[in-house]
Amino acid sequence: MNKVHVDEDWRILIGGERISTTDHYDIVDPNTTEIIGRAPEATVEHALAAAAAAKEALSSWRALSMDQRCDYIGRAADAIESQCEGWVDLVQAETGATIKVARTMQVAGAFVDRFRYYSKPFEMNQPLPPLYSAASALAPESLITGNVLRQPAGVVACITPYNFPLVNVAGKIAPALAMGNTVIIKPAPQDPLAVIKLGEVLNEVFPPGVVNVIVGSSPEVGAALVDSKDVNMISFTGSSQVGAKIMEAGGKTMKRLLMELGGKGALIMTEDCDVQAAVGGIASVWGFHSGQICTAPTRVICHREIYEPTIEALSAVSEFMTLGDAREESTLVGPVITESHRDRVEAFIQSGIDDGAEVVVGGDRPERDGFFIAPTLLAGCTPEMHVVQEEAFGPIVVIMPHDGDDHAIELANGSDYGLFSYVYAGNTTRAYEIGEQLESGNVALNSIAPHMYAPFGGFKMSGVGRDRGRWGLEAYSEIQAINWPS
Ligand code: NAD
Repeated sequence: MNKVHVDEDWRILIGGERISTTDHYDIVDPNTTEIIGRAPEATVEHALAAAAAAKEALSSWRALSMDQRCDYIGRAADAIESQCEGWVDLVQAETGATIKVARTMQVAGAFVDRFRYYSKPFEMNQPLPPLYSAASALAPESLITGNVLRQPAGVVACITPYNFPLVNVAGKIAPALAMGNTVIIKPAPQDPLAVIKLGEVLNEVFPPGVVNVIVGSSPEVGAALVDSKDVNMISFTGSSQVGAKIMEAGGKTMKRLLMELGGKGALIMTEDCDVQAAVGGIASVWGFHSGQICTAPTRVICHREIYEPTIEALSAVSEFMTLGDAREESTLVGPVITESHRDRVEAFIQSGIDDGAEVVVGGDRPERDGFFIAPTLLAGCTPEMHVVQEEAFGPIVVIMPHDGDDHAIELANGSDYGLFSYVYAGNTTRAYEIGEQLESGNVALNSIAPHMYAPFGGFKMSGVGRDRGRWGLEAYSEIQAINWPS
């Protein structure tokens, strides 16, 4: 079934035209290691042409009212919804997602919802109250009033990671387009095919050049967009390491930046928490999409009184995390994205062992084709270990004991990351008091579930800026203040 995509004519999209590239590169199904498609290999010249096309389309797109732009976005949501069911096997093949994840979270759910959400206009402008201004050398005495407008940032390059290719792109372009920007989508090299299909559907809805798609295996094409003077803003989701490079390079042309970066989520358990609820929460994310989730609670910080029972409960629950062929309905843990990423995650586990951690669950490479890693639990960890400090982006959980709330908070904050943290405590008040002391952009209490329209983003190395909800529109805007004597 997968091989069908190998013969498809995959192209990039510039200024409303589907463009063939001279070169292509292989997309590999991480579940089977088969080649499932040959992605277009865009050049730096293509990237610059896409930036120029987006710039040309900008003035007429931003001149529309938000109501008119939202109407386009609503039509885009309808068009996507009518076609995207047919993309499930493609997304599964290029990402290695299990059936459930591909059907409910990759292709439907958050993906279409993001377009629906931003198909409703928001009032973005804000009047300034009149202000008495005494006579001066500049102007006579008057009352000055004004308006604070939100103007589009301009041309936005949306550079995204692998893991949830459609959701990552939708979360950026829906608010960016609603706000009046034009976009260039640069998906991750590992899983760009469904995004190409998305671009083609959007191209049927939006005027030429409003949405452009550039695909390439090398960082060069993304870097060219960061350097281009035609691009006003970079909306980046990916690793903190690449994010730092983009911030540095973007400084030369004073790029507006939205940076959604890596995470090493802490999950604090107090001695009076519901251990089974916490363990259920950890387990639901531990192997989910093979741990390739930036918000996963991968550092469990557990009160010493319940440390051993928690380890036992996590070991017990791991037996139900069926690893296997991602196309089997019963599979909960599929492969990670590439062979090189599997090697990186395995080296990460080994570093934990070398530093003295104890492998309680997993640790070995499963004997099967594909890029599989068994869900792994490392106990006896200490804060300075590499495996505790760095993001693995694989199905690995580390657990450390704490001796009270202050100690737990210190351990949780002892990380360069600060994206999403969790607190399980005997009551919400105690959980809240701990949560507000965490250096983390988002905190969930006694639950793993996020609020989908809460502002999302990170403290410290986890990012700069916030998106989702109204914050998503603000992120893609410039503030303009206009004042006059009343
Ligand atoms: P990555 O940083 O390696 O790559 C992300 C994107 O950047 C890709 O499209 C890549 O081609 C591009 N890129 C690489 N070098 C570039 C350069 N010099 N200039 C411009 N573009 C460049 O990330 P990845 O391995 O694809 O994804 C995993 C990472 O993404 C993890 O760190 C994970 O935590 C993070 N992530 C964060 C969020 C979030 O919302 N905070 C969501 C998903 C993933």
